[in-house]
Amino acid sequence: MGNVRPTTGRGHRASAGTALALLLCLTACGTDAPAVAPAPTPRTSPSAAPTSSPTSPPPRTSASPRPTDRPVIGATPPSWLGKRALPRTADGFGTIEPTPPELVRRRFTLPDTLPPLPGTGFASRVTTPAPADVIARSTWKPGCPVAATDLSWVRLTFVGFDGKRHTGELLVNKSVADDLVSVFRQLYAAQFPIEEMRITRADELDAPPTGDGNDTGAFNCRPTVGATSYSQHAYGLAIDVNPFQNPYTKGDLVLPELASSYLRRGWVRPGMIEPDGPVVRAFDSIGWTWGGTWHSLKDLQHFSRNGT
Ligand SMILES: [Zn+2]
Repeated sequence: MGNVRPTTGRGHRASAGTALALLLCLTACGTDAPAVAPAPTPRTSPSAAPTSSPTSPPPRTSASPRPTDRPVIGATPPSWLGKRALPRTADGFGTIEPTPPELVRRRFTLPDTLPPLPGTGFASRVTTPAPADVIARSTWKPGCPVAATDLSWVRLTFVGFDGKRHTGELLVNKSVADDLVSVFRQLYAAQFPIEEMRITRADELDAPPTGDGNDTGAFNCRPTVGATSYSQHAYGLAIDVNPFQNPYTKGDLVLPELASSYLRRGWVRPGMIEPDGPVVRAFDSIGWTWGGTWHSLKDLQHFSRNGT
């Protein structure tokens, strides 16, 4: 998250955060702590229920939760997502608060903002230079350390936490566009779930911090956290993957501010980046470094070409 300014997380659009769709958990279900999974509802067959006798078979006690019985915690975006501004600290970040129960097992995917790419499997489109209208809705402005003509608009498909095919977009340095397509082809094959993938807008940079953003993104013309120099994101040479499940942490600071639950790396939940997992392997295949290997701080969401 070297791209994060000290004012907010990557900030969801309120409209996206209030997605109406009820996204039922599919492949992501049942892969983590069973203690908070919905209890299976015992059922008997219609014929047996009214006339059950001591000789009737006992109700089924399958350990598998029934996704259709009741909503799975974390499978739908809470109505307040992206809307609740946190009080600011002296450093300009939001106050660090415990992860809300609705986000402890976060596993929803927000509606796509782009039309789906054709096909059924992995697909990508690289447009270089990025179209002017794409640049216009990004954080790029004159003075940024990369020329707009050196940025590529990359559209690609990814697998959501709903197990379905989604289409997202990245703005990246043109020198790494093909490499990043290779990474996301690998993540698609691995069915690694991603919540949202879109280009950060300029208005999000000044929005009040809500601490609950989770956008997977690359280019962001902002300084490094806690510094005045530009981060690798400002060159389109770094990417953050599922920031909420993979927070930035240094001392007491956690970004996004509500993501503290995900500092428990031993409790593996969907969307988390693991040292020996598919995300690290995919970025390693193009020679990029993971911020989870750093020592002075951990930036678990962050991958970059030059290792900063
Ligand atoms: Zn980053």
